[in-house]
Amino acid sequence: MSHQWPAATAFRRMDLYVRDQVCPFCEANLYVCSHRRRRLFTMQGPWLLVVRLGHCPDPCCQGYHGTVSPREEMAIAPPRLAVAWDVFAWIGHRRLARHWSVPQVCAELSDSHAIDLSEDAVEDYIRQYEVMVAARHTDLEEMRRSYANTKSLVLTIDGLQPEKGHETLYVVRELTQKRVWFAEPLLSSTNDEVRRILTRSRQIAEALGIPVAGWMSDKQDAFVTGIAEEFAGVPHRYCDNHFLRDLAKPVLEKDSHAKVQMRRKVRGLRSIEQAVLREEAKTSLSAEPRPTVSPPAVGRNGKTSAPPPAAEVLKRDEELGAAGASCAAGSEAAEPSPAGQVVLDYCAAVRGILNDDQGGPLHPPGLRMAEALKEVRESLERNLGAKKGGPQRSRCSV
Ligand SMILES: [Zn+2]
Repeated sequence: MSHQWPAATAFRRMDLYVRDQVCPFCEANLYVCSHRRRRLFTMQGPWLLVVRLGHCPDPCCQGYHGTVSPREEMAIAPPRLAVAWDVFAWIGHRRLARHWSVPQVCAELSDSHAIDLSEDAVEDYIRQYEVMVAARHTDLEEMRRSYANTKSLVLTIDGLQPEKGHETLYVVRELTQKRVWFAEPLLSSTNDEVRRILTRSRQIAEALGIPVAGWMSDKQDAFVTGIAEEFAGVPHRYCDNHFLRDLAKPVLEKDSHAKVQMRRKVRGLRSIEQAVLREEAKTSLSAEPRPTVSPPAVGRNGKTSAPPPAAEVLKRDEELGAAGASCAAGSEAAEPSPAGQVVLDYCAAVRGILNDDQGGPLHPPGLRMAEALKEVRESLERNLGAKKGGPQRSRCSV
């Protein structure tokens, strides 16, 4: 832990004394016997602490051979570390709350605060910080304060495996305060091991003096039996997240099958687009002003089968243009007519729908696809209705 300070480092010196402190064993007044020099990184630059140590003057006292440090020292820096509390807390906060990597923490300390610490040192500080956080989380007095206004508790337990082959970390959380009560790694998840954790949860709840209104977990046998025995009569609900996760796999399999069926039915987009572009290439030669068409209003909702209406749109578009000769597909000869553009836009929309794989088990991709295709179909039917001289002339004023 010793840090090599550059020779030219300018330290701010601070002298600390044991004042108004007495021997912790016999309460005799302490003598100053020696001093300790500590060099520290602080957010205000490097400090040099000159710490006067006291000891008991009574050779018969248990405290005679030990020394006593001034109380202020502990308020400035954790024991034995080369950083003050402010740097220590900064490191822990960046790592645990902001999820910075250790090299990132080191680089920022060096760049912004001129604090050069090795990665080993920072890792060591983080471990100590974690111990302190865990100690605070399990501190009963602190828990009593934060549960002062809580009428009942809802507890959850789950096992997390950080990496395959690692021991499983069992975490007990309390939901009304969203607080992790404690976590314990277990090499085996036998009923007895898990029972130990449940017993500890019960002891904490009893120490807080608050009744447990319910438990939530997955259906792991050790949880089901352990909770029933340790918390007799307390309702045990199975976690709906686990339930959904187990349900998700078969749902997504069926959904994927439905998607394949829809894709099989809705095809031929490319040939429609090629036909439009062929027509456009032909008619662009006679560059006449074209009537305007309002763009398709494609929303979202669903059923299948776009190609037949799309083909009709195309047919309608053919009437607007001329009869086709063979021109290379994708020819950029001219901008498509407004009507041609409508067909191309429909094709693009349908292609986007077919390629969209977003959505989870609660709103599966196939269901989204079916809804979107239905909207396309409705949109096409609206436009076709308007074209046939229906009441919606304003929508499609070809
Ligand atoms: Zn003493």
